[in-house]
Amino acid sequence: MISFLDLKASNSRIQLELEEAFKRVLDSGWFILGQELESFEVEFANYCDVKYCVGVGNGLDALYLVLSALGIGEGDEVIVPTNTFIATWLAVTRTGAKPVPVEPCSDTYNIDPDQIEAAITSRTRAIIPVHLYGQVADMQPIMQIAEKYNLFVLEDAAQAQGAMYRGRRACGLGHAAATSFYPGKNLGALGDGGAVLTNDANLAAKIRRLRNYGSEVKYVHDAVGNNSRLDEIQAAFLRVKLRYLDEYSGERRKLAGLYQKYLHEMVGPKIITPFVPVWADPVWHLYVIRANERDALQQHLQKSGIATAIHYPIPPHLQKCYPEFNRYNFPVAETLAHQSLSLPMWPGLKAEQILKVVEAIANYYL
Ligand SMILES: *Cc1c(COP(=O)(O)O)cnc(C)c1O
Repeated sequence: MISFLDLKASNSRIQLELEEAFKRVLDSGWFILGQELESFEVEFANYCDVKYCVGVGNGLDALYLVLSALGIGEGDEVIVPTNTFIATWLAVTRTGAKPVPVEPCSDTYNIDPDQIEAAITSRTRAIIPVHLYGQVADMQPIMQIAEKYNLFVLEDAAQAQGAMYRGRRACGLGHAAATSFYPGKNLGALGDGGAVLTNDANLAAKIRRLRNYGSEVKYVHDAVGNNSRLDEIQAAFLRVKLRYLDEYSGERRKLAGLYQKYLHEMVGPKIITPFVPVWADPVWHLYVIRANERDALQQHLQKSGIATAIHYPIPPHLQKCYPEFNRYNFPVAETLAHQSLSLPMWPGLKAEQILKVVEAIANYYL
C-alpha cells in the first residue's frame, strides 16, 4: 500500500532530535510562553525574511487574530478565494465580517487577480490570497490593487511554508501572513499550532496581546483577548523541523518533478497536471491532478493499493454552514471540486513509488 501521507515515516527520520526537544521542555518545567517559543519565533521570522513572528494556537486563529487586530468585523467585507480550505472563510465569518468570494485562475487554482477589482465595494477592508497546494498566488497585481483601494492583504500561507514568489518567500509578500503547523502541513508540529508573520511592529504587538487574554502584564487586560498560544513543546518540535524544512521541500520538488515527467510520458492529456508559472517555486504541499472520471480513477487507484485524497470535495459556498451562499454558482471552484485528485506526496516517498502510482493511472486509461 502506498500511503497518501505517512507522518510516522517522515518524523521517524528525526526521531532522536524530537525526543531531545521533548526532554528539554519536560526538564524545564515551563510549558506556555517561554524560551522555546521566543527562539522559534525569531528563527521562523528569519526563515521567512520577515521581522516578526507570533506563535498562536492554530492556523484558523492566526487568520482570525489578524483580522480582529485590524478591527475588521460586522459591516465589513473581506475578499476570499472560492477555492480554499474552509478555514479561510471561517476566520472572516468569526469576526462578523462577510466573506466575498472570488474565483481562481483555471490553471493555477489560486485567486484570479483580474477578478478582484469587480468584487471590491466601499465596505471591503482586506484580501486573503491563499497559496494553495504550496504554490504562491500572483501577489504583485494583488498588492497593486490593495494599494489602489487601501486594502490590507493577509496571506493564507498554511500550505506554503518556504514557497517562493519572484525570488521572495511566502509570508513576506503581503502586509501580514497566517500559517498553520497542523501535523500534515509542510512545517508540521506534533499537534496543533500556527503563527502570524508581519513586518508591522504595531500589529505584531497587538497579536501578542490578543493571543494571551488581551494582556501584556499579567492580570492587566487592555483588550478582549483570546487564549491561543503556540505551546513550548510544539515550538521545541518546530525548531527541530524547521532545520529540515528546505531539505524536505527539496524532496517534494523532486517527487513533483517525477510526477510531471512520468504523467506526461505515460498518461498524456487525459489528465491535467499542475501548472507552475515562471515566477513561482512551489513547495508541493499537495500534488493535485485533474481528471474527468475522478471518482472512478480514485477507486481504481485504491484497488491498486494507492491512497489518494480530494482537496476539496465541497467548496465553502456549497457547505451547509453557509446557506446564504448556496445559491451562488462558482463554476471554476465547482469544476475543481469534481475533478481534483491529490496523489501521495510526502518526504520519504520513493521515486519507484511515484512510478507505481503513475503506472496505475496509466493502467486505468488503457
Ligand atoms: C490548514 C489550513 C488552515 C487552518 O489551519 P489549522 O491550523 O488547521 O487551523 C487555513 N488555511 C488553509 C489554506 C489551510 O490549509
